[in-house]
Amino acid sequence: MKNKYYAGIDVGGTKIAGILSNGKGKIISRIKSSTPKDATPEKIVRIISDLLEELLDAKGLDKKDLSAVGVGIPGIIDPEGKIIRTPNLHLSGVNLGKQLKKKLKVSCRLGNDVNLGLLGEKWLGAAKRARNVISLFIGTGIGAGIILDNKLICGTHGAAAEIGHMVIQENGPKCSCGNSGCLEALAGRWAIERNIRKEIKKGRKTIITKLLDKKSDSIKSRFLRKALQAHDPLVTQILETAAKQIGIACVSIRHIFDPQLILLGGGVVEACGDFILPIVKKTVQKDSFFPGAFTCEITLSELGDDAVCLGAVALASGHF
Ligand SMILES: [Zn+2]
Repeated sequence: MKNKYYAGIDVGGTKIAGILSNGKGKIISRIKSSTPKDATPEKIVRIISDLLEELLDAKGLDKKDLSAVGVGIPGIIDPEGKIIRTPNLHLSGVNLGKQLKKKLKVSCRLGNDVNLGLLGEKWLGAAKRARNVISLFIGTGIGAGIILDNKLICGTHGAAAEIGHMVIQENGPKCSCGNSGCLEALAGRWAIERNIRKEIKKGRKTIITKLLDKKSDSIKSRFLRKALQAHDPLVTQILETAAKQIGIACVSIRHIFDPQLILLGGGVVEACGDFILPIVKKTVQKDSFFPGAFTCEITLSELGDDAVCLGAVALASGHF
């Protein structure tokens, strides 16, 4: 029987990554391209089509070898493949699923990128054995995914699992979404950066100032890791507070869903997980509601940058 291949595409605000995989999630080729500024839907469709061609070419395959394509988008996607809202891309209101299908002439399914990241982890990564699992992906913002009874929960409009925008501090700092006191506004990377800059302005000394001079004007996750390794008091204190807020969110997640597993991932966790995880666990263990008999494992994601692409393959190949 002829091999069936699937493509998984991760459309991000700065880059578009793609993989070609067999039906079991074995990656056979991969590719990356940058997302053009002010990319139109037509441009995105063309880039995805070109990436697919290169992925297939690299293995001497052509379009008829491709069974289906899955695409992760950073936004709210309705069940028909129409993009309701993408804050970082100009794709709101576009039925990208339909446009891709027309251009590629192959079955194409779209999903929210963080949801697909969780599907990837459920299929092949840290969440393989969990029937009920919640993920928190802490990057620039905070995304989340919910799987209950082995089923991804997307809500009525595809907008469920916005745990990053759960308000956990009344009258707290302003969030990117317009509300105040969201988890993301307290513990996302942009919030951590805002807090560090506020203290630098007040005259606090930190190794971050030197790292910024040399390499970049934004406080990347790897700078946070370097500052932790150097025992920088300011970064240690601010990350400790952020980790406690994530822990508080996990307490509520547990009360709402009673999951077997809470999975932590994303750039900040990949860089600083060793520091963040024990604080989150300690905060959750202090919750007096659950008797000791019930456990909820909290662990780090395993698939890193591949999670979304593999989740897209899982969706395209009908694993979930
Ligand atoms: Zn918010």
